[in-house]
Amino acid sequence: MAPHSCNRSRAVALAFATAGVASTHAFAPSAFAGSKMSARHSRRSAGCMDMKYRVAVVGGGPSGACAAEIFAQYGDVETVIFERKMDNAKPCGGAIPLCMVDEFKLPETLIDRKVRRMKMISPTNREVDIGDTLKPNEYIGMVRREILDGYLRERAIEFGATPINGLVTNIEVPEGHNGKYKIVYQNYDGAKKVGTKEEMEVDLIVGADGANSRVAKAMDAGEYNYAIAFQERIRVNDEQMKVYEELAEMYVGDDVSPDFYGWVFPKYDHVAVGTGTVINRPAIQEYQKAMRARAGAKIEGGKIIKIEAHPIPEHYRPRRVVGRMVLVGDAAGYVTKCSGEGIYFAAKSGRMAAEEIVALMKANNGALPTESQIKDTYIAKYDKAYKPTYIVLDLLQRVFYSNNGAREAFVEMCDSEYVQKVTFDSYLYKKVQGNNPVEDIKLLFGTIGSLIRGAATAPPDRPFSNPVESLKRL
Ligand SMILES: Cc1cc2nc3c(=O)[nH]c(=O)nc-3n(C[C@H](O)[C@H](O)[C@H](O)COP(=O)(O)OP(=O)(O)OC[C@H]3O[C@@H](n4cnc5c(N)ncnc54)[C@H](O)[C@@H]3O)c2cc1C
Repeated sequence: MAPHSCNRSRAVALAFATAGVASTHAFAPSAFAGSKMSARHSRRSAGCMDMKYRVAVVGGGPSGACAAEIFAQYGDVETVIFERKMDNAKPCGGAIPLCMVDEFKLPETLIDRKVRRMKMISPTNREVDIGDTLKPNEYIGMVRREILDGYLRERAIEFGATPINGLVTNIEVPEGHNGKYKIVYQNYDGAKKVGTKEEMEVDLIVGADGANSRVAKAMDAGEYNYAIAFQERIRVNDEQMKVYEELAEMYVGDDVSPDFYGWVFPKYDHVAVGTGTVINRPAIQEYQKAMRARAGAKIEGGKIIKIEAHPIPEHYRPRRVVGRMVLVGDAAGYVTKCSGEGIYFAAKSGRMAAEEIVALMKANNGALPTESQIKDTYIAKYDKAYKPTYIVLDLLQRVFYSNNGAREAFVEMCDSEYVQKVTFDSYLYKKVQGNNPVEDIKLLFGTIGSLIRGAATAPPDRPFSNPVESLKRL
């Protein structure tokens, strides 16, 4: 295949890198870069005229940035990262597990707040504090996505990925996936308000473009069901902010969500208050109103500085690899039920997919990998590592978020030290925990007791305002 000409893209890359470094000041590429960072300069100056293949990463969130970073370091492919909005603030609670900080070498300056206490609040407003089992150095990280995403994307650019400020509008797939893919996009480079239609031929595409993925559509990846999540960022006064310094709150009850939870998460100088639902999406505003009411005096008088909403995938797409088109992150459907967590899985899947593709290319003497090779590596390894987590959390959501009695039981159970330890360890370190048979049996009986008590004390759920929605689950 013909080598790609990339003088123009390199000029754009350098312009973005310069602008980005200026805007991410406090987050200059960290220890992660280390000695590799000098390699990137020589790689970039070696020129992409010599490179045989071009990889397009569509989407510059955590999944796209973490994929692009790996391809860029490989050096034998030209890596292009398309992002429709370079200062995008993805609607998100921004909670990340501790293991992500080390694994992705995130500087601590990215973390707005270190949450060491969670308050679980039941339908009858019973409060249970959890966090006593945490060690002094353990915490849940709270980030603003505009900061995290900017940092990760900048790091990929520093390693040599070429950024394009463009909205991908169409992807032309060659017959049988033989030959090059054509990406059609609106280019907004140079802070243009109106995009210019452009096209680019590429050899492999990573779809990291989130829940409304165009790449998924182009490769006929199939649909997934989704929740709608709504969030308001609220600037509260100093006294109110003090309450949330190291505290996050989780509210359950059919008033705040019929199948999920509402949250108050602390950020740098404000709190994020939100909720989500899959089975009654049209009522999301009502649930948000109830969330504000439940948080009450703790956020009263606060100024809403941002309102945001976005779909959250409920499960994997039916197809995650077709030809040389590969989905990662939300585009693939990697958000856990019950906790609604997706940032870590996005970053991890992006990195894992890219690492496996690079390893295949090295093993193939530089040739592009086939669909089955990618499935046998990236997909097989991802599922081996994380499918049990998705299954367990799906089950927990079905059992404990289904009615007020079960939600009441869920909060009561969180009082158990064993439950707290298992929950935190599973979340912070991304491993399904629970290997103490005696405690597990006690937990089983405790759960039954809690469910019976919860059913007796909690108010019954009200009927949905839109029962038709609940039938739409895929
Ligand atoms: C309200 C809410 C709260 C959440 N809270 C949490 C939480 O606290 N913790 C957690 O772990 N997860 C949370 N999630 C889930 C989390 O936000 C996602 O799982 C995560 O953002 C997925 O990352 P991604 O890189 O796959 O996709 P995204 O973050 O969605 O990134 C996709 C990127 O692609 C770009 N893009 C999209 N289409 C195109 C196109 N056609 N052309 C060019 N660029 C394109 C977008 O601008 C975006 O930057 C929450 C989600 C919501 C909606």
